Amino acid sequence: MAKHKTHFEDCDVLVVGGGMAGTGAAFEARHWGRDLKIICVEKANIDRSGAVAQGLYAINCYMGMQWGENQPEDHVRYARNDLMGLVREDLGYDMARHVDSTVHMFDEWGLPMMKNEKTGRYLREGKWQIMIHGESYKPIVAEAAKKSADKIYNRIMITHLLMDENAENRVGGAVGFNMRTGDYYVFRAKTVIVAAGGASHIFKPRAVGEGMGRTWYAPWSNGSAYALPIAVGAKMTQMENRIVLCRFKDGYGPVGAYFLHLKTYTQNANGENYEKKWYDQTKEMVGEYIDHHPTPTCLRNHAFIQETIAGRGPIQMVTTEAFQDPHLETVGWENFLGMTVGQAVVWASQNIDPKYTNPELTTSEPYVMGSHATCSGAWVSGPEDLSPPEYFWGYNRMLTVEGLFGAGDTVGGSAHKFSSGSFTEGRLAAKAAVKYIEDQKAENINVSDKQCEDFKKAIYKPLENYTVGRNEITGGTVSPSYISPIQGLQRLQRIMDEYVGGIATNYMTNGNMLKRGLELLKWLEEDLENVGAEDYHQLMRAWELKHRALTSQCVTEHTLFREETRWPGYYYRGDHMKLDDENWHCLTVSRRDPKTGKFTLEKVPVYHIVDEKEKKKAS
Ligand SMILES: Cc1cc2nc3c(=O)[nH]c(=O)nc-3n(C[C@H](O)[C@H](O)[C@H](O)COP(=O)(O)OP(=O)(O)OC[C@H]3O[C@@H](n4cnc5c(N)ncnc54)[C@H](O)[C@@H]3O)c2cc1C
Repeated sequence: MAKHKTHFEDCDVLVVGGGMAGTGAAFEARHWGRDLKIICVEKANIDRSGAVAQGLYAINCYMGMQWGENQPEDHVRYARNDLMGLVREDLGYDMARHVDSTVHMFDEWGLPMMKNEKTGRYLREGKWQIMIHGESYKPIVAEAAKKSADKIYNRIMITHLLMDENAENRVGGAVGFNMRTGDYYVFRAKTVIVAAGGASHIFKPRAVGEGMGRTWYAPWSNGSAYALPIAVGAKMTQMENRIVLCRFKDGYGPVGAYFLHLKTYTQNANGENYEKKWYDQTKEMVGEYIDHHPTPTCLRNHAFIQETIAGRGPIQMVTTEAFQDPHLETVGWENFLGMTVGQAVVWASQNIDPKYTNPELTTSEPYVMGSHATCSGAWVSGPEDLSPPEYFWGYNRMLTVEGLFGAGDTVGGSAHKFSSGSFTEGRLAAKAAVKYIEDQKAENINVSDKQCEDFKKAIYKPLENYTVGRNEITGGTVSPSYISPIQGLQRLQRIMDEYVGGIATNYMTNGNMLKRGLELLKWLEEDLENVGAEDYHQLMRAWELKHRALTSQCVTEHTLFREETRWPGYYYRGDHMKLDDENWHCLTVSRRDPKTGKFTLEKVPVYHIVDEKEKKKAS
């Protein structure tokens, strides 16, 4: 163990993950905490890390309040509708009322924004989206964070949160290791903001073998945002609400700009509009939700999945009409070049020119995240002026662990934040974290050397497992005494895929399958004590896997708890095939006891704050 040098860093605000939310947090923490010590720790390099690493073509969340385009209330109604009624409206409203100011800063910082030539406003792609030339989106926001933080640590993976030993349930910092040098890092902090992205690769992806690593959500998003708080007993919400995306086949290329800007549409193999055909069947399952406008994302997926099961695939995007217009053709290709260049490469390899061939679509494996058209994540306090008592405990975006904050994919219940909303939520969390420190809530934190040493031993154990276990290998790579991170990952993905509603079962699961899945996940947990890592990169893979496995347990527990099919098209409970508003129009909240590893779940009321406000105004 002496081989791994230990570095100590004491700070006021520690930001874990330098993606969209993390850069927003670092920036805003400096604004409010001029004299505070602010540290940001990132697993990759913040210039090109997180889901926005490659760039984006649109900012998906912009109200346009200055031009009266949308108001925060409109966005709350939109997100609520898309999530079949279940969102934290206080969090959504709070994000929406601040998001425009974030986008205006991006504009000032040099992000190339497309403008509507007639109106001079930002060019709209849809009601909420504005178009950007966003290849350099991430380096631009990273610069703001670099200028704000005292120090950015790149290439350090945070594996555990530290807890205060003087006060019950208060955070004390975080620990991790440098993937290049192997050094051990202890960050003792008064507040911690977890902004470590969502979770891909917990369900078996469609792309395996030669395509392995190709996923829609960032492959390096490994659920640390969930595992870190779950491990210390923070409450989580809506973890069953995974997302399935309709995307271009094999390259996971996005379809939003095609639908909205190019006005393309989908059809089945016979050239029919299949969505309408599933109206009656869907109404039977979810009632009036199918009549909502716009049709919730999961219900559109539902029609796609059922049409494919009925044997009328492949489903295609009709591009051959729009692509006859040279301008739209350019937009269609550029959409990938700034965001998912791999899709263009896949089409080239399959001899698909969308001007002449309608490309195939598919539904992805499920992902767990809190910022897209889904809202799994931590159960956090809302803002003082909006939140009902059940949703408020002192500091905006603080988890149920004192001094521990979250933003972006980390935070549950607040869907449709996207890149701009995640940055905004990072700002909100940082402002509250600074206030927490100013209010002297973070005094006398004690993190003992023993706590740090114990984590150090645990972190490097996979290296030891390998060093000892490799001597028993007589041929090949299979050891009787350790499993490699890739073997563990594939086992995890199969459990989730086959028991928890992945692609193998057309997103179908039920109580018995989930219980069996939980048993298998428990055995996997035991075996992960014996994961072996041959170098520091594999050590990172080992810890990514452990975080994915813990996240998966939480997802499975939540899916078992909610006895209804709330989001057909995201997953189905075969034993409860209908949406059940009478019993399940609520949020689910879980807590894992750090001592026993047991989860407890509860229902928490969902408050429709926006329309309540309006009803009161009217009366
Ligand atoms: C394919 C795709 C397309 C999208 N398209 C759009 C779009 O067109 N418009 C739009 O507005 N939004 C879009 N989004 C959504 C947007 O990218 C996310 O909402 C946003 O990035 C979420 O911010 P975040 O900070 O929570 O996560 P991220 O930005 O992913 O950042 C998480 C960071 O945490 C780091 N990290 C993870 N684990 C650890 C650890 N253990 N220790 C240290 N660091 C860690 C990661 O390396 C990463 O840098 C898209 C997302 C994807 C994946």
